[in-house]
This record gives sequence, C-alpha cells and structure tokens, in this order.
Amino acid sequence: PLPVLAVVGRPNVGKSTLVNRIIGRREAVVEDRPGVTRDRVTYEATWNGRRFKLVDTGGWEIDVLGIDKLVATQAEYGIESADAVLFVVDATVGATDTDEALVKLIRRAGKPVVLCANKVDGPSTEAEAAYLWSLGLGEPYPVSALHGRGSGDLLDAVLKAL
Ligand code: GDP
Ligand code: MG
Repeated sequence: PLPVLAVVGRPNVGKSTLVNRIIGRREAVVEDRPGVTRDRVTYEATWNGRRFKLVDTGGWEIDVLGIDKLVATQAEYGIESADAVLFVVDATVGATDTDEALVKLIRRAGKPVVLCANKVDGPSTEAEAAYLWSLGLGEPYPVSALHGRGSGDLLDAVLKAL
C-alpha cells in the first residue's frame, strides 16, 4: 500500500489549494469561506517518482461545532490513519490557539510532521514564516500554494518524512 500523508490545519490556511498544487489538478474543493462542510478526500500524488496518498482533512464545520469537535474529527479521520502529517499554517496570520491545539494533537499521535508556512507569496513574507519555529515542529517550509513558490523543497521534506 502507498504511504499516506494527512494534510492538517485550520480552515482557510490553504490546505485544499496546496493539495491541488501537489496533485497538479484543480480538483480539491477550495473555498473562500472558512468552515465549509465536506468529506475527507484522498488523492494520489507523485514526486520524484515516488507515489503516495494525500488526505485533505477539510474544514469540518468549525463555526458550527467548535474547536473541540474540529480537533477530535481531524484526529479520528486524518492523523490516525496517516504515516506522516503535513501541518499547514497561514504565515500571514501566524500561530493561533487553534494551531497550538492541533500541534498538541499531532505530537500525541507521534507521527513525523512537516511544517508548511503557507501564503508566503513573496520574499517580504518570508520573515513571518520564521516565527513558526516557535511551534516546536522544526523548520517551517515557506510556501505559496497559490503560486507554487517553495513547493519543491516542501515535497522533498515530505518524502523524507514518509
Ligand atoms: P482550506 O480551508 O485550508 O482548504 O483553504 P483553501 O485551500 O480553501 O484556501 C482558502 C483561501 O486561501 C482561498 O481564498 C485561497 O485562494 C487562499 N490561499 C490558499 N493558498 C494561498 C497562498 O499561498 N497565498 C495566498 N495569497 N492565498 C492563498
Ligand atoms: Mg479545504
């Protein structure tokens, strides 16, 4: 069976945009509105000749169900079934309480994790990505899922984690 990578993060950080970028198709649902309900979706991806599965864990009704349910659902469906976790943070916002809660959850699962500092669309945002070292998950990889910036280095790190 192919190794599985769970893409985890708050609603609206750009998980689905990143998944689209990695699979090279516009297929994962991208929403401007946070907290849109939808099912977990699995895709197949290839990088440097290695195949793996990607799980977009979605937004999970954060507005309706609240943070506890969001965290519990992602634990149940995303992280537990994965071999590694791609944790996505919005570098233009920085680490929020919800991000910290997700970090605890990922740590508890004991899975290898790669930290994606998304929405680094240009060099001027790169300093903001560096603040995410404070999450204690190692190197934040600055990426623009929208434009593709940094996605190669991120995927190299993902393959090492899987
Ligand atoms: P998700 O809820 O985490 O799946 O986030 P989405 O992929 O649906 O994206 C939420 C919003 O952020 C959309 O308006 C995207 O176009 C935008 N977005 C995603 N990635 C980037 C990025 O790298 N740069 C910028 N500027 N916007 C992004
Ligand atoms: Mg999404």
